[in-house]
Amino acid sequence: MNKKFSYQKNTSIKSFKHNEKTKINFLSNRSWYEKFNNYWSPGEDAALEKIETYISSHIDKYDVNRNRPDFDQTSRISPHLRFGEISPRVIIEKIQNSKKSNNAVNTYLSEIGWREFSYSLLYYSEDLSTKPINPKFKKFPWRSSKKDFALWTEGKTGIPLVDAAMSQIYEEGWMHNRLRMVVGSFLVKNLLLNWTLGERYFQKSLLDYDEASNAAGWQWIAGCGADASPYFRVFNPVLQSEKFDPQAKFILKYIPQLKIFNSSKTVFEPYLDKKLLDSLVKEKKYVNPIVDLKESRNRALDAYQQTKS
Ligand SMILES: Cc1cc2nc3c(=O)[nH]c(=O)nc-3n(C[C@H](O)[C@H](O)[C@H](O)COP(=O)(O)OP(=O)(O)OC[C@H]3O[C@@H](n4cnc5c(N)ncnc54)[C@H](O)[C@@H]3O)c2cc1C
Repeated sequence: MNKKFSYQKNTSIKSFKHNEKTKINFLSNRSWYEKFNNYWSPGEDAALEKIETYISSHIDKYDVNRNRPDFDQTSRISPHLRFGEISPRVIIEKIQNSKKSNNAVNTYLSEIGWREFSYSLLYYSEDLSTKPINPKFKKFPWRSSKKDFALWTEGKTGIPLVDAAMSQIYEEGWMHNRLRMVVGSFLVKNLLLNWTLGERYFQKSLLDYDEASNAAGWQWIAGCGADASPYFRVFNPVLQSEKFDPQAKFILKYIPQLKIFNSSKTVFEPYLDKKLLDSLVKEKKYVNPIVDLKESRNRALDAYQQTKS
C-alpha cells in the first residue's frame, strides 16, 4: 500500500515486511560461487580498503569511465554495502575527508544518492519489487515465454553484449550498471517479458542484490517507476556496444569464440556474417538471435503506446 509523501512528527521506525524463506539455503547446489573468491574479499576491512584505494586512485575519472564495462572502473562497493560491511555515511565521510571536489566526485556522490532515493521509494511502496508504481502498467500486455526467459538467463540470446553481460553474473556474481540497463531493456522491451521476472532473477544471482535498488532499477527500465525512463527509450544493444565497448573487449572476454569475426562490428552483430555465424551455430559455439532488434523494438513501442493511451 502506498503511503502519502508527508513528514510526520515522532514517526517511529517500523521494520519492513520480509519475504525471506524460513529455511535458509545460503549456497546453491551448483558450485559456480566458488569463482567469487577471485573477485571479492568480504568483510569490513576489505570494504574500507577498497573504498580508500578507490578514492585516492580512481574516483577522479568516475564520470568519464563509469559507463564503460571494458574499463571496469566503478568502485564495486555494492556487495559490501548490501551486506552492511560499510555504510553510505562512511563512504561520504571518506570522500569529504579526501578534500576532493570535482565533477567526478559529485557524480559518484549522486549515485550514492540514487541508492538512498531507492530506499525512500521502498519505504513508500513496500511492494516495489512486485507492483508497478504507475498503475497504468497493471494491464500491460506482457508476453509469456519460458523459453525466451531461459535463453536470456543463460546468455543465449544471440545478441553478444546481452549474452556477455549475463555471463558476467555467473563469473562474478555482479554486473556492470550499464549492462544491467542493457539486459533489462532487452528482457522488458525486445522480449516484452514482465520486468518482475528480471527483478527476481537478479535477486537470486547478484551478490549486491538490494531490495530497494534492484526493484527501482527494474521499474525504471520498464518505464513504470517513479523516475521511469521514457517508454520510447529502448536500448539498442548494438549501439550500446559501439559506444561503451568499442573494441569489443568486454564481449570477447566472456564470449571468446566470437574472436573469429574480423571486426568489432561483426562481433556486435554476428548475423552480419551469416556464413561464419552458421559455422559457430553448427559447432554449438554460439546461437542465432532470438529476436530481430528492429521488429521487437516496434512491437514494444506499440505495446507501450497502447498502455499510455
Ligand atoms: C536493473 C537494475 C538492477 C539493479 N540492482 C541493484 C541491486 O540489486 N543492488 C545494488 O546495489 N544496485 C543495483 N543496481 C544499481 C547499480 O547497477 C549498482 O549499484 C552498481 O552497478 C554497483 O556497482 P558499483 O558499486 O561499482 O557502483 P558505482 O558506480 O561505483 O557506484 C557506487 C554506489 O552507488 C550506488 N549506485 C550506483 N548506481 C546506482 C543506481 N543506478 N541505483 C541505486 N544505487 C546506485 C551503489 O550503492 C553503488 O555501489 C541496479 C541497477 C539496475 C539498472
